[in-house]
This record gives sequence, structure tokens and C-alpha cells, in this order.
Amino acid sequence: MNYGESVKKIPLHLQIVIALVLGAGFGALFPVDSGLIQITYSLDGEVIEENISEWDVLIFHREEHLIKSFSGGNAKAIIKFYNKNKSDITSLSLVAGVQEREILKILSLEGASSPATAIRPLGDLFIRLLSFLAIPLVLASLIAGAASLGDVRKLGKIGGKTFAIYICTTAIAISIGLGVANLIRPGEQISEQTKIKLLGDYQDKSSQDAVANLSVDIVDFFVNIVPKNPFFAVANGQMLQIVFFALMFGVTLTFIPKQQSAPLIAFFEAVTTTMIKMVDIIMLIAPFGVFALISATIADFGFGILGTLFWYSISVIVGLTLQTVLVYGGLIYLFSRANFWKFFKGLRNAQAIAFSTSSSAATLPVTLDCVENKIGVNREVSRFILPLGATINMDGTALYQGVAAVFIAQVYGMDLGLTEQLTIVLTAVLASIGTAPVPGVGLIMLVLILNSINVPAEGIALILGVDRILDMMRTITNVTGDSAVAVAVNGPLTKR
Ligand code: ASP
Repeated sequence: MNYGESVKKIPLHLQIVIALVLGAGFGALFPVDSGLIQITYSLDGEVIEENISEWDVLIFHREEHLIKSFSGGNAKAIIKFYNKNKSDITSLSLVAGVQEREILKILSLEGASSPATAIRPLGDLFIRLLSFLAIPLVLASLIAGAASLGDVRKLGKIGGKTFAIYICTTAIAISIGLGVANLIRPGEQISEQTKIKLLGDYQDKSSQDAVANLSVDIVDFFVNIVPKNPFFAVANGQMLQIVFFALMFGVTLTFIPKQQSAPLIAFFEAVTTTMIKMVDIIMLIAPFGVFALISATIADFGFGILGTLFWYSISVIVGLTLQTVLVYGGLIYLFSRANFWKFFKGLRNAQAIAFSTSSSAATLPVTLDCVENKIGVNREVSRFILPLGATINMDGTALYQGVAAVFIAQVYGMDLGLTEQLTIVLTAVLASIGTAPVPGVGLIMLVLILNSINVPAEGIALILGVDRILDMMRTITNVTGDSAVAVAVNGPLTKR
């Protein structure tokens, strides 16, 4: 038996798990040197590339004014600051002991690379392949799903039930997040030194701008769900607008004569099926994509930061586990008498992809595949509920926002009363509907929540470093939550 044959014998989910573990190991073995910056500048007409690593203080200037200084060597925060403010920066100086060196005409600042980050393009390729499926899939499956439910009353019933369960599970998720954070009190376990370092490293003008520019206008939020131009919405990946258009289109198809609607419904059904079939092809490179994504992420962020924010990370992880086992386990048992472990086993490919891509949208095609073919949910249900869930239902994100809000408030020595905690529940439910299912958006929406309870939104600087890894974990919960609701709405399962 040759190598190819023996690899084929290993089931795909096992190949992905192996890729995850090996990728994490590879990333840990070749970490990026976080104290090293590759700087390119021009001197006397010559382009010079240099690695800089030793400085006590690094200062960015605009003419003779100081814009920002960084003590210590957190290259990532420095590069992020530079890239966001490069139009303002005219020079940088490095102070080491009593020596100061100034570099003018900076062309670029980049982080160090390692073999683990060098293979990142393979991971990006994998995410791109999955992402291009997402928008056509959401559009086609929601149109066909809404149309094939037959009449508006049936759609209203299923839609209403789905929406109600989505809102309830999200509200429960935030409450669990708040409960765990109030119990563990992670904000009180962090040392003054760590707090100052994290705030200093990650705080920059851009987060203050984000804070200033974000405000919730509920009326605007709802008005904006209706696209002016559906093609613009599709081209720009405006998920909520796409969902709105697709539902309207699907429902209206049921009002026109059957001989006209039938070919269109068949067309969108075929598009959906083709997109899901395409997943089988893309999943052939899943183990390589997952390996590349995980190794680059671990090399970049490391597990070390989880240690610095140990109690905060533990609170999020405990919350996500409780939500998954208790809430989803209870939900699927209550509504469809389904066995939690079988459900969990059927979903493992989608969960592994959610973890490595941090995007429920990119995972959607795989989720549909698992929920239909491994768990046995009716297509009529899954093709309507899952695209909707990927867009509006983000329990993991909401839970994490609950923990993060309490954590940041605790660090700032503020005690959140019942009113503030209820405000968090309300805003986080809304935010979870408006959060785009792509990496890192939950963090931006957190600013809205902090604003609503008057906690300094600059506090997100505290959790920025650990956000990517927790994003990977909360995306698993987001995807599992959508699937659990699909099982619940489906009722007793036909397969397995
Ligand atoms: N990455 C999450 C998702 O796609 C969203 C977030 O929490 O940032 O589901």
C-alpha cells in the first residue's frame, strides 16, 4: 500500500484534527520573534532593509512632535500603530540607554517571519475558496428555502420559531457570560503591571477613532437592512441586506404562477446543491489549509498571551463550554430528542473549520454539509435556517462580549449594576444580529456595548492580544448554535 492510499484510509475529520495538532506544534516550534522589526527606509537615495530588535524606547514623530512612544519590544503593536498612522509619521527614533538614533524616510515596517508564517498563503487560499461559496450560497439557499416552504404562513411559522429560538439562545449566552465573569472576576486577577503594559502597547489613535465613530442608532440599523441595490449588497458582502432581499424574493416567488416560479426555484436549488458539492472538492485540501492557518496563527500570537490573560480566557472558555453542552444539549433533546454526542460528532468537520478560519461565513458550506448529510436535518429546514443563523445568530460572540464587558469594567474598578448588565444583554443581542460572520468583528461590536454602559471603550486594548485565539473558539460556538437550532426546528431526525 502506498502513502496516498494509506492517507485516503484516514477519515477526513481525523486528517483535520491531525492537521490542527501538527499545525499548532509547528507554529509553537517556529514562533515569530515578537521583538524584531524589519524596517525599510531610504538613505541618500538608497533603499536599506534592516532588522531592529534592541531598543528601550521607540518613538514615532511627526516633524518635531512626538506622536507615540513604545517602551519594550512588542513589535506587533508597533507595526499596527505604524500602519494605521503612516501618513502622519515622518520619522522614528530608537533610544537605547543614552544613545538615540533617528530613522527618516521610512518606507515600511514589517514583523519578522518564520517558516510557520511563510506557509500562511496556503491557509489564505483555503479561506478564499470557502469564502467565495458563502455569498452565492446564502442568496440561493434562502431564496429556494423561502420559496419551497410553500406559503407565507408556513414561512412565518418556521421563521418566527427560528428567530425566537435564536434570540433566546443568544440572550442565554450573554447571561452565561455575565454570570461566569461575575463569579470568576477575571478583572480583579490581573496585575497593575500587566494592565499598564497591555493598555500602553495596544492603545492607539485608531481605537479611539473607532470609539468616537461608533454609535448605535436603532432606527438606522433597521433602515439599513433594506438594500438600495441588491447587487451592491451582494458585491460588498452585506449579509443582512442579502438575507432581506433573498427572503423577499423567495416569498414573492410563491405569489406568482407556478409555471413561472418552478424553474426559478429549481435553478436556485441547483445553485445551492452545486455550492455544497463544491465543498467536497475544496475539503480535499482542508488538512493542508488548516495546518497552514493554525501554524501561522500560533507562531504569530502564541499561547503565551493566554497565560497573561489567564482568568479572562478561562472565563470565556468555561462560558462557551457551558453554552454548548447545557444549552445546545438541552435544546436538541427537548425539541427533537436528539443525542448530543451524535450531534457533536456529526458536526466536527464544521467545528474544526470554524476554529481554523474564525469565520462562520466561510464555514457555512461545511456546516450545511454536516447538518444535512451527517446529522440528518431536512434540507428544507437547514437551507433556510443555517444561512440565516450564520448571519444573525452569534451566541459565542455574544457570550464573549458579556465576559469582556464585565472584565474591562472590573479592570477599571467599576462595578456593573443590574441595569448595566441588562443593557449589555439587550445591546449584545442586537450587536450579534449586526455582526458580520468574519474574523474579529465581535471585538469591534464590543465597542458599542461598552459605550452603552459607559465603560471606557479604550479598554478593548486590554483584550486585543488574546482576541484572535478566543475568536477561533467563539466561532465554534456560533456554528454549533446555528446547527443546534436547525436540529430543534427540524424535530426528530431521519438519519443516524
Ligand atoms: N468570527 C466570528 C464569526 O465569524 C465573529 C466574531 O465574533 O468576530 O462567527
